[in-house]
Amino acid sequence: MDLGEMLIGGKWQATASRETIPMYSPSDGKEIGRIARGTAADVDKAVAAARRAFEGIWGNMAALERGRLLTRLGALILEHHEELAQIEAADTGKPLTQARADVTVCARYFEFYGGAADKLHGETIPYLNDYQVLILREPRGVTGHIIPWNYPVSMFGRTLGPALCAGNTSVLKPAEEACLGVVRLAELTMEAGFPAGVINVVTGYGEEAGAALSAHRNIDLISFTGSPEVGTLIQTAAAKNHIPCVLELGGKSPQIVFEDANQEMAIEAVVKAIVQNAGQTCSAGSRVLVQRSVYESFMRSLSQRFSRVRVGPHTADLDCGAVISLQQKQRVESFLAAGRSSGLEVVATGMLDRGADPNGYFILPTLFGLVPEASDLAREEVFGPVLAAIPFDDEADALRIANGTDFGLVAGVWTENGGRQMRMAKRIRAGQVFVNTYGAGGGVELPFGGVKKSGHGREKGFEALREFTVAKTVVFNHG
Ligand code: NAP
Ligand code: MG
Repeated sequence: MDLGEMLIGGKWQATASRETIPMYSPSDGKEIGRIARGTAADVDKAVAAARRAFEGIWGNMAALERGRLLTRLGALILEHHEELAQIEAADTGKPLTQARADVTVCARYFEFYGGAADKLHGETIPYLNDYQVLILREPRGVTGHIIPWNYPVSMFGRTLGPALCAGNTSVLKPAEEACLGVVRLAELTMEAGFPAGVINVVTGYGEEAGAALSAHRNIDLISFTGSPEVGTLIQTAAAKNHIPCVLELGGKSPQIVFEDANQEMAIEAVVKAIVQNAGQTCSAGSRVLVQRSVYESFMRSLSQRFSRVRVGPHTADLDCGAVISLQQKQRVESFLAAGRSSGLEVVATGMLDRGADPNGYFILPTLFGLVPEASDLAREEVFGPVLAAIPFDDEADALRIANGTDFGLVAGVWTENGGRQMRMAKRIRAGQVFVNTYGAGGGVELPFGGVKKSGHGREKGFEALREFTVAKTVVFNHG
């Protein structure tokens, strides 16, 4: 394929106008490639190709054969591990170590769902005498996928792994800010032997290709990860065609540190959870709630650790890379400026690597202390390396603050008290709760998703297979 082409119906093709969009490296702002500016017409072609594959070769393939193809793709991704990591790091600005981990995770999705394909089965139900009832789990059909720019390679696996495992065919629209890794992965799907039309990738702008996909009448489900604002548009478009959607819309996840916590362990995890991917992680731990009796001592150690965080280009492979774009940098800076001008105390910042290019989109990780619960820094998703520390008095106070935002994606609880661990885990309103650890979303095996404004539906693990299938009840009267 050439730069500026998309994978539609097994063929690499440019959009009719041959228009392309430049891609920039966040580490220095330089152009590193061009992608096709896909349109509604391209989405139409891709959905038609996916429908043909669903009704033909893919729909008729045995589950074990589907599983084999997924597993083969996982192995091929591992064979191309370093190449993919280099592309992903340059494209997103993330440190190479992080990009390498993302490629491994992407491969893991295809291994996990490759193994699951022939283990997805239905049920029987006891009913009246002389009857037999079967519940078949069938694929939905053609699934649409819109993914963001923060983890394009790993999200490719997260969203397509379960969809294909369950027997669907797919059309994926990656974010125009970062999708070179996804385009390369699309090539690998053909090399792995996926039949034409099973996986289609249409690149382009959200308002064009993305909107056309989410409003398409011939898809059977749309899966979206991104901002709550666009999530509303997706859900509205899907509602018009009465199709379901899976929405993962970010969070304001709390790390809750009680006075009896192992502080050393907590501090490492708290820093990592906000610095990882420059804070551009839906499950970033962007609030640290600290019990008032240990607030001062904890903050002293936390700020020492925080000031050692190093920021630089992906090639330097430090703790934190650039943010995705100039626009995102300005967005994060406006949160920082608002925090400072409202008198909030900056307790610590990270350090910028001396070799960092002045044209790179770097933000110094910033720790704010004594952040009032009502302030934007305590409530809004910044999507940058900005951590808000908030003191609390007791368990009830911690719960009230933890549950007091519009979001509910992930939470971390740090305490040695077993009863409290369990009470907190039960009462926190979030899709995932980590106790004495924090996995920023966790492994591929662990169901993941939100409540409240963080979205609905579940990705990862076996739970994702429920979203990508539909139950059919078959009743036999056998006399
Ligand atoms: P976004 O606009 O929600 O983008 C996510 C995906 O949706 C991209 O593929 C985007 O395409 C597409 N899209 C945009 N407008 C669309 C539309 N009208 N119809 C269909 N698809 C559309 O997110 P963003 O602009 O990249 O970032 C904005 C903020 O969203 C961030 O600052 C952050 O707070 C949040 N965010 C959250 C997550 C998360 O994982 N929860 C991920 C990314 C961003 P294009 O980008 O190509 O236009
Ligand atoms: Mg965008």
